[in-house]
Amino acid sequence: MTSKDYIAMDEKFGAHNYHPLPVVIARAEGVHVEDPEGKSYFDFLSAYSAVNQGHRHPRIINALIDQANVCTLTSRAFHNDRMGLFLKKLCEFSGYEQALPMNTGAEAVETALKAARRWGVEIKGVKNGDQEIICVQENFHGRTLGAITMSNDPDSRINYGPYVPGFISVPYEDIKAMAAAITPNTVAVILEPIQGEAGVCVPYAGYLKEVRELCTKNNVLFICDEVQTGFCRTGKRFAWMHENARPDIMCLGKALGGGVMPVSAIVADHAVMKVFTPGTHGSTFGGNPLASAVAMAALDVLVDEKLDEHAEAMGRIFREEIGKAACKNMVKVRGKGLLNAILFTEGFDAWQVCLALRDAGLLAKQTHGNIIRFAPPLVISEAELRQAIGIIKDVLARY
Ligand SMILES: *Cc1c(COP(=O)(O)O)cnc(C)c1O
Repeated sequence: MTSKDYIAMDEKFGAHNYHPLPVVIARAEGVHVEDPEGKSYFDFLSAYSAVNQGHRHPRIINALIDQANVCTLTSRAFHNDRMGLFLKKLCEFSGYEQALPMNTGAEAVETALKAARRWGVEIKGVKNGDQEIICVQENFHGRTLGAITMSNDPDSRINYGPYVPGFISVPYEDIKAMAAAITPNTVAVILEPIQGEAGVCVPYAGYLKEVRELCTKNNVLFICDEVQTGFCRTGKRFAWMHENARPDIMCLGKALGGGVMPVSAIVADHAVMKVFTPGTHGSTFGGNPLASAVAMAALDVLVDEKLDEHAEAMGRIFREEIGKAACKNMVKVRGKGLLNAILFTEGFDAWQVCLALRDAGLLAKQTHGNIIRFAPPLVISEAELRQAIGIIKDVLARY
């Protein structure tokens, strides 16, 4: 079968809830993926930052295989001998006291929202049913009903009503609006420290710190959705660390699974996590031994290969070099670490650039029509990065 056949099959038998770039990936290793015809591409999406450690990192694959040969799934009805080790490692990596394992990023977000609502009643003293959570516009928190209720993207929301009550949306980077939205019933503020899907929107310096202080002053939980920005992607272990604006709850996912399987979690200190008692939340697959073994290896790779520092250094080269590109329609390149985007002029169709990049051997995906995100695996070497930059510059020069 050819790429054309695979695409036709997806179209015929799959729901049309995505509009993928017309390319089929059949093999992958490190920073490269290959189509069925044998053409190789740089992967500059990394499955939306789920592949920070690179495709099929040998340590992660070995952990997967070793664990698959021993024990894969127990459910939480019993203990298993991997989950505790995994959660301990995650707590040490993130600097929090406790973790609650789930599977997907959207589930981590739901878990954080549920934690905040319960905390609001049981610790803050809000009447059950009156809890309010403040979110910010242009967010992306996943596809559950809770997450799409917070979204203001029409495609995400259309005809999915009724929406979940108790959410108040304020403009991003508007601390005054956020302060004005806080009431005695506010239990949490949730935001992405850098908005990924919105087009890698980096807030002004000091914003996260201001949100942190506002939350502390009003006895409101600060929830950071680090599903995309976490695990060294932006040059720090977590993006809030750029401003030392430590949240009360972090939502984690994507790269926690090492590009191998879905693993997500929230982390928080005991003062918040204690609101969960037996039977009040759960997941059949959350904390399973296979996922735990994979996630431990995924965390080890981030630490041992110093991928935070490496992402920081490679990101500087990327922004400096791309900033010099001869491209009439480029407005600017922005980002932190290896989470970057090129912003094109209003109305410019970046899809054609993504197709040209594909033809030139590099995969990236546009967001919001005129923005392309560039997020290679963090294991990319400087030589590979410079080669990829050459490809991007050559293509940009045509636009
Ligand atoms: C991808 C993403 C999610 C959702 O993760 P899934 O694993 O797709 O459910 C949530 N929040 C952010 C910031 C994301 O980038």
